[in-house]
Amino acid sequence: MSEALARAESLIRSIPDYPEPGVLFRDITPLLADASALRTVIHAMIAPFEGSFDVVAGVEARGFLLAGAVAMEAGVGLVPIRKAGKLPLPAASVTYDLEYGTATIEAHDDITPGTRVLLVDDVLATGGTLVAAHELVGALGGVVVGTAVLMELTALGGRDVVGDVHTVFTA
Ligand code: AMP
Repeated sequence: MSEALARAESLIRSIPDYPEPGVLFRDITPLLADASALRTVIHAMIAPFEGSFDVVAGVEARGFLLAGAVAMEAGVGLVPIRKAGKLPLPAASVTYDLEYGTATIEAHDDITPGTRVLLVDDVLATGGTLVAAHELVGALGGVVVGTAVLMELTALGGRDVVGDVHTVFTA
């Protein structure tokens, strides 16, 4: 790992028992607040996919923070994947299981058949969110050409369900 990436990684802080007991929350806000670290990780997220995607789809909420920067850097547009009820004209929606209950994500029809999509999120945990995001893009006819995540929590096995994921950091 380069010195710049190692420095960026050191800016992610781990908060025990947030938002609930037993969760070690990975807080990327100090990294986002650092111009050099932010630039470094955005370049690292895009690198394997340069020129291969038409839009970036960012997953609410922290995925948006990275997806906007990725889209600007790559010179493409951004499609938000939002939680249910936040978009006025959802064209597709996918409901998936959480540890307790279910969640639904939605998107507008700015992804159309054949659109090449790079999916972006901050943290890969169990993978449920990204599997649902893949399904959502597929429901609109889009093609997921890659998935880029800032940090993968390997112990939670998300990679086993999401498949090929490009991660900048692993923990
Ligand atoms: P999952 O669907 O289990 O892969 O969860 C992924 C989503 O939950 C991501 O959008 C993350 O923002 C969030 N998340 C899950 N676990 C953590 C964690 N330990 N620290 C920070 N964010 C997390």
